[in-house]
Amino acid sequence: MVLKADLAEEALEKTLEVREEAGIPFSTPVNVYDICEKLTPKVRVRFAEYSMEGVYERSARPLIEVSALRPIGRRAFNTAHELGHHALGHTGMMLDQQIGEGQVDPKLSPEEFSANAFAGFLLMPKQAVRKAFAVRGWGIARALPEQVFTVACHFGVGYTTLVNHLAYALNEITRDRATELSKVRLPAIRQAILGSAGSDRSWVADAHYAMKTLDTEVGTTMLLPRGSQPEFGHLRYEADLPNGRVFTAVRPGMTRVEGDAEWAIVVRIAREQYTGWSTNRHLELEDGDDE
Ligand SMILES: [Zn+2]
Repeated sequence: MVLKADLAEEALEKTLEVREEAGIPFSTPVNVYDICEKLTPKVRVRFAEYSMEGVYERSARPLIEVSALRPIGRRAFNTAHELGHHALGHTGMMLDQQIGEGQVDPKLSPEEFSANAFAGFLLMPKQAVRKAFAVRGWGIARALPEQVFTVACHFGVGYTTLVNHLAYALNEITRDRATELSKVRLPAIRQAILGSAGSDRSWVADAHYAMKTLDTEVGTTMLLPRGSQPEFGHLRYEADLPNGRVFTAVRPGMTRVEGDAEWAIVVRIAREQYTGWSTNRHLELEDGDDE
């Protein structure tokens, strides 16, 4: 019998190999679609409108399909899970009905356990997670739900995914604390961060946000640092709050956003529940396209 700890260790090592091949430092937040593009052979990613979470198909031109119907952070985690099947050499076609937000349930098959461990360590390396809380002056063990949410956005994943990773992979919070955090609903977190219910989809990139890009989709409300100015009109200004400036993504495309200090990111906006190749996800609409 293979021990789960050995599988987790192997998955962790694979994430380091993949980062090295893609030319990405070992403990920074990453965009999984950019990684897939940088591997040899490229791993193609397609967003599809189906109820399954994801599929991996091994071939000379490896293919990942993930459901476009899941929230954007979940899509990133599911893509990393399928990339895990690729990197770990799992054979045949992997069909994932339920990936389960990164839970490392001991009842999972060894391959599913490993793929979830890979996704967690790839997107949320231990050192980077510790740094993400520390740089904001937050303790992990007693972090508030809105703080956990902000750090989840820092890594481009969903709130529950980070909660599970903190408890079950990194042992940074207790399982009781994970259960408490999991009970907090996103509208309550949005209320704490934005002071209003906001849209169904919200995201935060604060002054400590470390990726140069932020992937989002039309209809998402974003809290960016105070004074943030988008270059183009893809983001609609909503309000200035004490903790930042609120925008809503209103059309697909890319726009650079600069803040007060030396803070700048490129916001890449896809259509809502975009289906198609990941490489085309931020193309502007052509004249005559339906919004
Ligand atoms: Zn799987």
